[in-house]
Amino acid sequence: MSEEIKEMNPDDKNHKKDSDGYEKICYLCHRPESKVDKMITIPNQITICSDCMQKTFDQIGMQGMPSFPGMDMMNLGSMGLEPPNEFQERHQVKTKKKKKQEKPALDINKLPAPHVIKGNLDEYVMGQEQAKKVLSVGVYNHYKRVLAEQTDDGVEIEKSNMLMLGPTGSGKTFMVKTIARLLQVPLAITDATALTEAGYIGDDVESVISKLLANADNDVELAERGIVYIDKIAKKQNTNNRDVSGESVQQALLKLLEGADVEVPVGATNKNAMVPMTTVNTSNILFICGGAFPGLEDIIKKRLTSQGTIGFGSELRDKYDHEKDLFRLVETEDIREYGLIPEFIGRLPIVFSLQAMDEELLVQVLKKPKNAILKQYRKLLQMDEVDLEFEDDAMMAVAKKAAAKKTGARALRSIIEEFMMDIMYEIPKDEMIGKVIITKDYIEGKGSPTILMRSNG
Ligand code: ADP
Repeated sequence: MSEEIKEMNPDDKNHKKDSDGYEKICYLCHRPESKVDKMITIPNQITICSDCMQKTFDQIGMQGMPSFPGMDMMNLGSMGLEPPNEFQERHQVKTKKKKKQEKPALDINKLPAPHVIKGNLDEYVMGQEQAKKVLSVGVYNHYKRVLAEQTDDGVEIEKSNMLMLGPTGSGKTFMVKTIARLLQVPLAITDATALTEAGYIGDDVESVISKLLANADNDVELAERGIVYIDKIAKKQNTNNRDVSGESVQQALLKLLEGADVEVPVGATNKNAMVPMTTVNTSNILFICGGAFPGLEDIIKKRLTSQGTIGFGSELRDKYDHEKDLFRLVETEDIREYGLIPEFIGRLPIVFSLQAMDEELLVQVLKKPKNAILKQYRKLLQMDEVDLEFEDDAMMAVAKKAAAKKTGARALRSIIEEFMMDIMYEIPKDEMIGKVIITKDYIEGKGSPTILMRSNG
């Protein structure tokens, strides 16, 4: 009986198409073979994917097995399905089988304390102490809420979606990426300026949920605990001339931020008649919005100075003119004046800011993170048994160049790459080179790097 059940290996490209050139389609969910884990063809030529097969078994549970002709209970293992007495552990078993994931640095099921989360962030994200603290507490409370819902004790904790303010290249996206990686939760990043209301040209807001689902390997449960980062929120200041589409995108995002069932296509970001749909609930998805908010400082300053006692206005103005980090003094009313609609702000209860990168912080970014650019180059050269050293003032010179570009830490990589290009080309030519020292003069175009030769023997 068992040989009548054909099992397809999805990795085997030759099996993707039938002899007639068409892919097999799951009889139940209509996904094509290339989008599913395994396809099982039962003898009367019905093809069902292993996910649908599993769901069917789950639904009937122990009450009885479906009676597909030719199906033998004992063959479940060979079809990539677990036997019914393991149904309760289905999800665990399935994810274990799907991908050999490494253990996450932070396990949300064990809920690491905020200081532990921050400690992990510290290894990658330099500076931004207050932002890392707020993010760690926010993430901690968010997953606490997710787990509390599971225990169903009747107390509902409100969502802790966040709004992150900070200049370009200060690490907003990087921080979110890092936290998602540490927690090993899926992440989708989108740009608010690319989103439109449903029905207009461009990606509608729900496309970000499809992205999240895709990044969760189409595992709905996993996607529902993921993180969505929406960048470039309120890109322009629109106090007089309101950017209508910006506002309508905020409107469209409201229900996602709050928690809604969203119908999304599986395996594609666009809704299309040919693509199967699934439902993702966004209640447990953590939404983080970010933006550089150019011009917001002026609104903050205006509010702060107008709050001063009459006569002290100019004194206050002077004080705030010299305040480097005005974002830290932001209030909800400033953001509203900037152009975010109140309902949208209301759904982002945690607001925090990142500081602009100064030269000292840029030097830290160059050398300190676990995956620092300089460490990467050092490792590359070590493979040629060459030691690489950056003098302190050379690093400062790189930081100065980067700061001048006003794109935060983003400029660092291209600057370093430019200087390392010649070195990476020249060094392997001469086996006798043992060490390269990058000097300030080299960075400033006034000299060459110092090259030290290996001592013979
Ligand atoms: P934005 O604030 O514009 O979202 P990004 O997060 O994209 O900035 O930063 C660009 C790059 O700069 C990141 O990929 C990361 O490599 C680096 N970077 C930025 N900020 C930091 C930081 N605080 N610590 C370490 N690296 C950083």
